[in-house]
Amino acid sequence: MKSLPAWLKTSILLGALCLPVAAAVQAGVATLDITPKESVWLGGYAARTKPSQGVRQRIFAKALALRDENGTTAVLVTADILGFTQELVSSVAVQVESRFQVPRRLLLFNASHTHSAPVIGAALGPAYPLTGADRTVISRYTAWLGAELVALVGRSIGDLKPAQVSFGQGLAGLAVNRRRVGNPEYPNVIDPDLPVLIVRGDGGAIRAIVFGYACHNTTLDDLLVSGDWAGYAQSTIESQFPGAVALFVQNCGADANPLPRRTEELAIAHGHLIAAAVAEVVQGQPRKIDGPIQAAFREVELPLEAAPPRQEWERRASAGSDMERRYARMMLQQLDRDGRLPTSHPWQAQAWRIGPDFTLLALGGEVVADYALRFKRLYGFRNLWVAGYSNDVFAYIPSLRVWQEGGYEGDTSMVPYGLPARFQSSVEDLVAGTVDELMRALPSR
Ligand SMILES: [Zn+2]
Repeated sequence: MKSLPAWLKTSILLGALCLPVAAAVQAGVATLDITPKESVWLGGYAARTKPSQGVRQRIFAKALALRDENGTTAVLVTADILGFTQELVSSVAVQVESRFQVPRRLLLFNASHTHSAPVIGAALGPAYPLTGADRTVISRYTAWLGAELVALVGRSIGDLKPAQVSFGQGLAGLAVNRRRVGNPEYPNVIDPDLPVLIVRGDGGAIRAIVFGYACHNTTLDDLLVSGDWAGYAQSTIESQFPGAVALFVQNCGADANPLPRRTEELAIAHGHLIAAAVAEVVQGQPRKIDGPIQAAFREVELPLEAAPPRQEWERRASAGSDMERRYARMMLQQLDRDGRLPTSHPWQAQAWRIGPDFTLLALGGEVVADYALRFKRLYGFRNLWVAGYSNDVFAYIPSLRVWQEGGYEGDTSMVPYGLPARFQSSVEDLVAGTVDELMRALPSR
């Protein structure tokens, strides 16, 4: 430090002592068109009988890189797909870490859960009557997506430049607790919060708007590719704020549907509704967030109930619906291959804290609204964003209440997801315990 002027020596020493230094947040944004170039099975509905027949709306993956004054870089990747798989996420994460030195805890994937985008890898295997040729197309798309996502992350990092980040929350009334359809006595538990992160360039122009909402992207169920209402919300926001990239984060919307639904007009209207709610937050008084980026990542095994014996799978392989038969055959193949069926499944949770009072909690799987409400009650409504559909989407994550009620989100969705039994009743305790550990791992506010 001999050649440095005295004032600079002092600043470096102060920096080393972690005293406040001038804010130097940087942000980078990149987008990738992930519209399939060939006909491919669309994910999410077991009732479809053939692959896609065209494109209603182009679909995208987007990345936002944030770098704090210490050089810590976090990258959020969002995509108009049903869900990321562990296989895809792991492969991208390994390459991102080796090429761009972003460790796993600082790389976060979130899927919009659109039901009008290509099937990814082997996700929801029993749900679709796939031929070998169909599987080849899906594998080709998934491999292409993986390679392109690594490049997308790289482009977002390459775009880093000084930025100002702010956060606000609105409310929107699109989601309805779908478990009440046919069960009107069930409570209308939803998470109506609309968290919004706004990234401005040095001159004040908006470069990115990240918005979250908890509701299935299931307005449409035909054979045309689209991002559903979240796709329309993103394109509407981007045309309303020219130069800005809109990234959608699916929150804990596992038991919420956009109702009414099933027409293109409704999907567009739903998108406009959410975009209007986002604009209110952007034009309101979002709070500036600044400071070091801290991240934590945890994984826990969620135990499954005992699987039926082999004879039961043999019986089911020739009884029930086509999907139930495919499910039973898949279990028999696993028994032949491994001699046993899985007794648990890993579940991942990740948290980012930016500065003293903004936390993004990102949970794996299809997470029901009870969890978002529970964690916001525990850790604060104003500064906490609770996302579901993050990283690996491998099953529904029911709360104890939903587990006790049973039905699709509590039990029978394990058939399309291809797990041999529902979770044990400990599921909520294990999830909440893991989140508590995660929140404690972050520096206190
Ligand atoms: Zn779902």
